Amino acid sequence: MRLPDAVPVTSLNHPLLEQIGVQVDVLRLDLIDAVLSGNKPFKLMHNLARARQEGYSRILSFGGAWSNHIHALAEAGRREGLEVIAVVRGDDAGSSSTTAMLDFAVARGVKVLRVSRQDYRRRQETDYLDQLKQQVGDFYLVPEGGANAEGVLGCEQIATVVQNSLEDWPDEILLACGTGTTLAGLATGLSRLGAPSLVRGIAVLKGADFLNNEIRRWLPEGHPQNWVLETAYHHGGYARFPVELRDFVRSFEQYHGVLLDPVYTAKVFSALWQRIKLGAYLPDSRILVIHTGGLQGRAGFQL
Ligand SMILES: *Cc1c(COP(=O)(O)O)cnc(C)c1O
Repeated sequence: MRLPDAVPVTSLNHPLLEQIGVQVDVLRLDLIDAVLSGNKPFKLMHNLARARQEGYSRILSFGGAWSNHIHALAEAGRREGLEVIAVVRGDDAGSSSTTAMLDFAVARGVKVLRVSRQDYRRRQETDYLDQLKQQVGDFYLVPEGGANAEGVLGCEQIATVVQNSLEDWPDEILLACGTGTTLAGLATGLSRLGAPSLVRGIAVLKGADFLNNEIRRWLPEGHPQNWVLETAYHHGGYARFPVELRDFVRSFEQYHGVLLDPVYTAKVFSALWQRIKLGAYLPDSRILVIHTGGLQGRAGFQL
């Protein structure tokens, strides 16, 4: 899997930004590929390489019925000739039994195993994983969301992409956090490159303070302190898309011509707008938002 060293950057123009004098650029990871875009290919890159190195031709992973991770794994698996098995919570697709994401995965040759909520909860238990191996044969395991050390390592490369795509390091870099893997990799990569930028993660789940410890576990010795996690911009919880957020997305997309996904990037830009209005940024601040993709998920929402 080859990932770019630099990506397009979109500079936002808006009266609010002009009035405060802040510069907002968007790193368009959503544009790196027609299908395999966003942060997920970075999380998968070293996982797939390691699977191959260790002689596996079958990958198993976990996700919900709209998982961006399973979507990316389906495409990457097909391109690289690896068999993919996706373990999906059975009742996750709601009253209809499938989703656009699951249809996509099946069309890419993914074998989808629908399991009960109780079984899904056992996804980290050795007993359960052994049981799955009996059922489908031996596999390389990629945890839910691609959240492992290989995932973090791949996301270190996003720091290099930032360096190569901008003239100067920004003061602050914002991105959405689900598992925190991407933030951990980015913060590590930036600290290795000696970047002065602060990474501000916007947690999309409710009650995400526990992620601070998860992220710290991913960081190398010496624990770089170049990051902070915001836990108050979740809009009610994971995949919640209340009307005020939907209105924000509509006007943002119309104004800037940059599409957002309701689960992740919508919450990042909305948080940024709230923070700017609160006066959180000094004049001449340079802010970079990482557009982590996920636009396939728009199909699951009324926009
Ligand atoms: C998965 C995903 C994230 C979250 O990445 P983590 O590494 O789990 O924090 C952010 N944005 C989008 C669009 C995603 O699909």
